[in-house]
Amino acid sequence: MPETLRATSARLAPISGTPRLDAELLLAHALGIDRNELLMRQRDLSVPPCFEALIERRLTGEPIAYIIGMRDFWTISLHVTPDVLIPRPDTETLIEAAVDHFGRRTPARILDLGTGSGALLLAALSQWPQARGTGVDISPAALAVAQGNADCLGLGARADFRLGNWAEGLDGPFDLILINPPYIARDVVLAGDVLHEPEGALFAGTEGLDDYRRIAPMLPRLLASDGMAAIEIGYDQRTSVSALLADQGLSVSARRDLAGHDRCLVATPAPLA
Ligand code: GLN
Repeated sequence: MPETLRATSARLAPISGTPRLDAELLLAHALGIDRNELLMRQRDLSVPPCFEALIERRLTGEPIAYIIGMRDFWTISLHVTPDVLIPRPDTETLIEAAVDHFGRRTPARILDLGTGSGALLLAALSQWPQARGTGVDISPAALAVAQGNADCLGLGARADFRLGNWAEGLDGPFDLILINPPYIARDVVLAGDVLHEPEGALFAGTEGLDDYRRIAPMLPRLLASDGMAAIEIGYDQRTSVSALLADQGLSVSARRDLAGHDRCLVATPAPLA
């Protein structure tokens, strides 16, 4: 088993930045156990026949999360399919911003616009056991994934999912609004895992700003007076998206991800003069 992991890692190195981790996750999946158990028991396990087919899928560039059907995010594990964006560690920056903003308070009413797998809403509901929330997506297939995740995590009773175009037809107020919209400019040439992800979750017009332009005007009426919106941005979009939010009378600050890139804008209602 240790030799299999070494050999697999070497085969995956040309196509993956994390070949050893990929090998471990694929082998654990093939064995039907989790990665910790694999690492503890590796000397008494044998390699199942289906392992080779999983490696071959990875060698074609298919993301690990789609092959094994799972991805961890914040404190939860989510089912993912090619109908949803794979949750990224960068996006946890939005939850960190909310945890800092609310301190010991609970954001009782949460909205997740463009919920995809449900990652942001379900992470927030697991963070705040008294909170309830709504997840909106324009993709029925994504909503089915999100609903399945809510049910598996035991959060279904506090989560409500609805088909919609951003916040159209929704009434506030919400204490916390989480948004990871598409923000990549149309002409950007992508490579790697992202090629397998849904285009509708990635691209947003010539500058990557189209969805921020749609969403920003909806926020003031949806936000509670002491609420906040945490909005994911591309590393170079701080100025442009902050301006769109400030135009709506919101106060804006930025927060960086672990790589040091601007990743999250925090928008709050401006204090009354
Ligand atoms: N952060 C993602 C990427 O760069 C994009 C996700 C998004 O558009 N919301 O691949």
